[in-house]
Amino acid sequence: MSLSPMMRQYHEAKEASGDALLLFRMGDFYELFYDDARDAAELLGITLTTRDKDKGSKAVPMAGFPHHQLDAYLAKILRCGRRAAVCEQMESPAEAKGIVRREVTRIVSAGTVTDEELLDPQASNYLAAVAFDGRSAKGSATPTVGLAWVDASTGEFWAATIDERRLPDELSRLEAAECLVAEETEALLPPEASDRAAVTKRPGWAFGTRLAIESLRKHFGAQTLEGFGFDAEHDTLSLAAAGAILGYLQETQKASLAHIERLRPFQADASLQIDASTWRSLEITHTLRDGRRDGALLGVIDRTVTGAGARLLADWLRRPLTNVEAIRARQDAIEEMVSDAALGSTLREELRGVYDLHRLVARATTGRASPRDLSAVARTLGRLPRIKAKLAARRSDRLTRLDERIDLCGDLRDRLTAALADECPTTSREGGFIREGFSAELDECRQLMAGGKQWMAGYQAKMQEDCDIPSIKVGFNKVFGYYLEVTHAHRDKVPPEFIRKQTLKNAERYITPELKEYEEKVLTAEDRAFALEYRLFVELRDLTAAAGQRLLTTAQALAELDALAGLAELARSRSYCRPEMTEEPVLDIEAGRHPVLDLTEPEGTFVPNGVVVSAQAYPPPFSGEGLGEGATRVPATPPPLAPPPEGGGGLRNSLLLLTGPNMAGKSTYIRQTALITLMAQIGSFVPAQRAVIGVADRLFARVGASDDVSRGQSTFMVEMTETARILNTATARSLVILDEIGRGTSTYDGLSLAWAIVEHLHDVVGCRTLFATHYHELTQLEERLTGVGNLSVAVREHEGRVVFLHQITPGPADKSYGIHVAQLAGVPRSVNERAEQILSDLEAADTGSRQSIADNQPNSGFQMTLFETADHPLLDEIRGLDIDRLAPMDAFEQLREWRLRLLAER
Ligand code: ATP
Repeated sequence: MSLSPMMRQYHEAKEASGDALLLFRMGDFYELFYDDARDAAELLGITLTTRDKDKGSKAVPMAGFPHHQLDAYLAKILRCGRRAAVCEQMESPAEAKGIVRREVTRIVSAGTVTDEELLDPQASNYLAAVAFDGRSAKGSATPTVGLAWVDASTGEFWAATIDERRLPDELSRLEAAECLVAEETEALLPPEASDRAAVTKRPGWAFGTRLAIESLRKHFGAQTLEGFGFDAEHDTLSLAAAGAILGYLQETQKASLAHIERLRPFQADASLQIDASTWRSLEITHTLRDGRRDGALLGVIDRTVTGAGARLLADWLRRPLTNVEAIRARQDAIEEMVSDAALGSTLREELRGVYDLHRLVARATTGRASPRDLSAVARTLGRLPRIKAKLAARRSDRLTRLDERIDLCGDLRDRLTAALADECPTTSREGGFIREGFSAELDECRQLMAGGKQWMAGYQAKMQEDCDIPSIKVGFNKVFGYYLEVTHAHRDKVPPEFIRKQTLKNAERYITPELKEYEEKVLTAEDRAFALEYRLFVELRDLTAAAGQRLLTTAQALAELDALAGLAELARSRSYCRPEMTEEPVLDIEAGRHPVLDLTEPEGTFVPNGVVVSAQAYPPPFSGEGLGEGATRVPATPPPLAPPPEGGGGLRNSLLLLTGPNMAGKSTYIRQTALITLMAQIGSFVPAQRAVIGVADRLFARVGASDDVSRGQSTFMVEMTETARILNTATARSLVILDEIGRGTSTYDGLSLAWAIVEHLHDVVGCRTLFATHYHELTQLEERLTGVGNLSVAVREHEGRVVFLHQITPGPADKSYGIHVAQLAGVPRSVNERAEQILSDLEAADTGSRQSIADNQPNSGFQMTLFETADHPLLDEIRGLDIDRLAPMDAFEQLREWRLRLLAER
């Protein structure tokens, strides 16, 4: 099939774009062809047509949209999880000799976008890569993987080698927009990778370690990567992942990546560990129901006024601190702004005028900044002296350090302010953005251009007089430039030096040598002005890029200041308290509130509740050091702790069992405890009257039952997998909250499991645990296990109806109120009455079973028969047997007989 030159060009571009939708610029439109056109018609809702059908060749499917709608369509393409290759015309059709030259100028994917219009200012936009090799790293017993991520819009670039089992957790927290994986290992990627991210398969070689080290060294201009904290021998996987990212960016961006200035090693263990399901179920950055930011913890605590501040706060939540000193440093800064309210509000006011320096610097460095971007840099720099003045001589170390890190960049600010006009366009092509008086040469050209118009007016007036033709006028067209137009009525008065160019119905058009000479000057002045302005713009852009490092340090300090000032504003406006942080694994919260409900429930209706809980005998830090393998750790006696506060809801126990009716507020209470701990560990003040928070190493929340049908797991399987993980990985310093464990199976099954889980958490792990349950039987555990305490949520019955008081009180709940809640929810009266009847029958039959549980010793090896009600006659016989006097053969006979009797009973 013979192709037109343009379609040949199209096929070449398509070849270079892989599976990305190719947007092929044709005049004022971007067109898509063949399968791309079909896909685009469906995904973007644009009309599918055909091309060339009238020329006898086979019709080619085609779809397109106007060029000025590019951003809107790119956003749609990314939302559908696809990538787009943008193929531009590289010369104007007027200049082109033959067919217009076209090139794919960039491949846009969810993880590589840098366009302001396509990015959420408040969210980081990560591109992640995972390198598998299935083997364990040196010195580690479990398989490890390499994980790297970059935010191409800011240049932030990280890499880590992590235990493969931690991969789902890290991916969940990262919430990357796109994840790269080698084709051969795609199946190993956990489902969390594709929760939010588009997964892009890359050829295996793109994850090669040698290639990675080479290209990273070349990119950073470094002899070795050791200066960045990476060891080429040990960190092969993390470097492979980082290399895959760099290679992908180089291939798709087709622009400088100079803003990615360093690769940082990520220490996964240096922060509070939060696993994927805890992250989801505590609704930290997004709500469970509809994935929105509003209604999640982040949405509520975010009072930042800049995009970078909001992104940093989200980052703090992703990686809460475990170092008490670091937490206190943030608290000090917040406290200073809370106590000096004017300081906080003035700083926030100034920060409102600050633009997104991270992203501006990235655009300047990659050559994508516009004049408006540079003007935004100048305006931001203009705010800094006032911000620094406010920060000078502050008490808290953190604020002083931030002051030191803010670089006024006065040289750059003066240059940009002097050069750029007050209103700058978003493109450098239109000109008109350099301030008058900045360049003498430019001013001269501009005068010529303006003067040109004046000159033309003067020339027209002069000709009208000289020729005595009052209607003579100067005009312009593309074919022969400036001309003089004379109506036929005055044709005879035209002087001989006029050169006739065109005859119209009513008039003649002429040119004169004088007119042409001036035209030349004016037109070149315009071209010269544009060229000059562009050159000045590039100089300013390069100057900004050259100050990149100083600007980024400043940007980081401003983001931190914003995050801290936002938390101070939150603390002040919601009357939060500064929690006392300690290394001891304790929690002592007085009048705590749920940070989200406290805000969303009508003012003053949320009922505060306290909690006091501390780990079982926990070892002091490093107590196991030097014991050697096989030695048993002797649990140290916990240091004396402050007495529990009055009305604090519970004695000093490690495991609090919370019972109470549905809807009473059990989940709210245990969640609020987890969220308060999390907030405290990012340095924030907390919604409570007073709080002592022992830093946790891990936070686990098993809350609510949810099917994971998409991943082929039943509700119960999900619940048990998550529970297993908690039991296996929680330490004495962890905080565990469990809600309704064992609900997904039969009552006895579930109760037995819940019972055994409580025992394990109490006896073996000994960590701070809040356990909300419907199983009243569990409340007996308080008597048998020293560290278990019962709590319940108070309710009042009023005229046969339940009134929820939402107040946590010591002691177990007396009964369940499920049927009352069903009534509240509108279940038909007849169903409720029947349920009441069944309940009383069941309760009568159940009395014996409760007793039998209480009679059993924990861990005694009894099977599930412990819940059976009937006392079998065989049991008496067994009890009466004197086994010390029984010969082995007689014992065997006895056993056989019993078995036969039991079989006969079936
Ligand atoms: P279920 O067992 O059915 O899951 P629950 O006991 O866990 O119920 P929650 O879901 O925690 O109950 O709370 C039910 C509702 O009660 C919440 O949505 C909230 O509106 C309200 N509530 C909970 N705690 C409080 C409180 N301390 N103050 C005011 N209202 C509260």
